[in-house]
Amino acid sequence: MTSRFVDTHCHFDLYADPASVLRESEQLCIYSIAVTNTPSVFPAMARLASGLKFVRAALGLHPELAIERAPELPLFAKHVATTRYVGEVGLDYKSAVTESDRAKQRSIFASILGHCRGAGGKVLTIHSRRAEADVIALLSEHTPGAFILHWYSGSAKNMRLAAEAGAYFSINNAMTMSERGRKLLQDIPHDRVLTESDGPFVRVDDQPARPIHTQLVVDVLGRTWRVERDEAADIVMKNFRRLLGGGAA
Ligand code: MN
Repeated sequence: MTSRFVDTHCHFDLYADPASVLRESEQLCIYSIAVTNTPSVFPAMARLASGLKFVRAALGLHPELAIERAPELPLFAKHVATTRYVGEVGLDYKSAVTESDRAKQRSIFASILGHCRGAGGKVLTIHSRRAEADVIALLSEHTPGAFILHWYSGSAKNMRLAAEAGAYFSINNAMTMSERGRKLLQDIPHDRVLTESDGPFVRVDDQPARPIHTQLVVDVLGRTWRVERDEAADIVMKNFRRLLGGGAA
């Protein structure tokens, strides 16, 4: 069975039953990036994903935890050579209100990007809530590898700047339900669009979203682009393959 769908941002380790969600994703051949929120939980996620054909574990330090978990940065450095995938990382200025906390987040993110650049060939999935301008500036400065802005919610102008800097954008069900998200979808270049569940945080029909729900995102992409859903799925898959450099996942 060939893969038709891509979930570039799913927190498998945070579901009540990670194994069943992983099994479903694997059976449906959905290419999935299993993001983590701290370096200390990465080894467990890597073990869960080992041997799976379609799921890859990503090493992360979520910006909302970054200051508290900064002592785990050496663990990030230790694990970074063991995976091609990095996330969830980034900046979150909704949770960091003071300039001092924002500066700490930037310093931790810059250090992560430095490790990625040093290791080379990474694929990053990045959080940028209320901080997209600084995320884009740091990405441009540190050029860490290929990157995806996950659940992008910034301005159209900054979206274009990010796209010029090489960004891909992963779209989830919550974004397709909001007016702002749908408006943004009209503007993002088609060749930069990817799909994500961001499960279990995003909810679909009052249940935690799962990788299978990226199919619903593809339906919306098809309607937005005025193409058949198969063609929309092809465009997203082509984007994913380009992001990975045409090689295997
Ligand atoms: Mn997330």
